[in-house]
Amino acid sequence: MTTPSPSTRSADRDGLDRADSTSLRSALDRLLPALEEFNRFEGEDPTVPGAERWRAAIDTPMPITGDGLEKVVDTLSRDVVPFGLRMGAPGFCGWVTGQPTTAGAVASLAQAIAGPQRFFVHPFTLMEEVALRWISELLELPAALQGVFTSGGSTATLVALGAARQRAGEKLGHDIAAGGLVPGVSWRLYASSEVHHVVARAAGVLGMGRECVVEVRTDDRQRLDLDDLEQALESGARQRHVPLAVVATAGTVNTGAIDPIAEIAELAERYRTWLHVDGAYGLFGVLDARTKPLFEGLARADSVIVDPHKWMATPVGCGVALVRDAELLHRTFTLEPAAYLEGAVAAEGQHLRSPWDTFAGDHHNLSVEQSAPPRGAQVWATLREIGADGMRQRVTRHLDLAHRLAEHARDHERLELLAEPQLSICCFRYVPVGHACSEASLDELNEQIIRTLHASSRFTPSATRVNDRYAIRPCFINPRTGPDDVDDLARAVVDIGDSIAATGKPES
Ligand SMILES: *Cc1c(COP(=O)(O)O)cnc(C)c1O
Repeated sequence: MTTPSPSTRSADRDGLDRADSTSLRSALDRLLPALEEFNRFEGEDPTVPGAERWRAAIDTPMPITGDGLEKVVDTLSRDVVPFGLRMGAPGFCGWVTGQPTTAGAVASLAQAIAGPQRFFVHPFTLMEEVALRWISELLELPAALQGVFTSGGSTATLVALGAARQRAGEKLGHDIAAGGLVPGVSWRLYASSEVHHVVARAAGVLGMGRECVVEVRTDDRQRLDLDDLEQALESGARQRHVPLAVVATAGTVNTGAIDPIAEIAELAERYRTWLHVDGAYGLFGVLDARTKPLFEGLARADSVIVDPHKWMATPVGCGVALVRDAELLHRTFTLEPAAYLEGAVAAEGQHLRSPWDTFAGDHHNLSVEQSAPPRGAQVWATLREIGADGMRQRVTRHLDLAHRLAEHARDHERLELLAEPQLSICCFRYVPVGHACSEASLDELNEQIIRTLHASSRFTPSATRVNDRYAIRPCFINPRTGPDDVDDLARAVVDIGDSIAATGKPES
């Protein structure tokens, strides 16, 4: 029997499985103009038309015979990409999310094709290893904090708190990963009322229950209140609740507040519990000399998370969980030995003769994912492109933008600053002069302003509540946003606010 040569093998395949894996260049050649066009964000019309068109192109009956690659690429180029989500446009400043820059996007494509799995020894898994080291150097984290890339902050939180749970169990003499939760234990997890909701969800998934989260009050700058935390810990200890962790948020999602990490670390130590620092958004703030002091105490964290897919603008799906005692991650998440996995592995110390002989790193034993792309490639590419200094300049520029907007809000008689920026978020609102307005009607007016901004301007801030007031909340992490955009945003809010205040209706 002769083995077909690789080049003829796919051609020999019969019939309907026409899956193409050889026409990358022609597919990309056809797709790229559409992507380039999209990426210019020309024209300021934010009301993306064509919903009927893309719905009709996408939501078809399931194809029975398949239309072939060309049709797929045509649909992408003509009916999908042009109507994509314009998160890279300079006016986009909502939530804490964005579009990847080109380095991360192309690294992601290269990785999807040439480095699909993070098992095995290959260039992309080395990039992942190097990227973890670079992240830790960039953010000046202690070398003891070791960890793993995850799909984002939610999974990173689950992984970090999973390790916290394992340690809390071991202190009670139980291996929770093996034997499940300790019967009769009532758990508590302490965090400020501004904590991200993924923390409570992680507590739920980990079996301690969402209700174990004790919401600690915040001070007048939305930072965790230390007296209230101490009281909560003391009261928990008196009632013999077992503390799972204290969470310090380094950059809250509402206002960018940075909890007092060093003091929280003191309390966590005094009450013998784990300190988790949620820096998904804000940890890159250590790069700016003005905000760096606010991160004091970070080195004492038992676990830290950060999301490169936020401020670093890698493709979405890239978080990092770091834990001081990485062995704990092993004890929590390791897969049982499995015959199908062991079969591929060379004995320890044996000379490797092929990438298939062993696994690279141990990532699949450190989190909840087995198959996963080496996401570190995107971080590697981004840092290779702009370096630590480029990232530092980005953060500084964005902090400046938040301060610039705060200046506008302070200076303009019809704007009101609702929270002094601590990172790159600025919370403000429009307040008409000469009208006595109830808080409820101000809330409604500002909500209308946001909806008008979304529908008929190029700006897309999101909203939040600050001290129970509805706030317009731009968050500047978008590499393309500049000072002019901030000035225009302030002006747009005033214009829209004026027109609603004058007519009761937004200008059309
Ligand atoms: C975004 C964010 C999260 C959740 O991360 P995802 O990547 O969206 O899953 C958690 N905490 C904070 C502070 C965040 O900003």
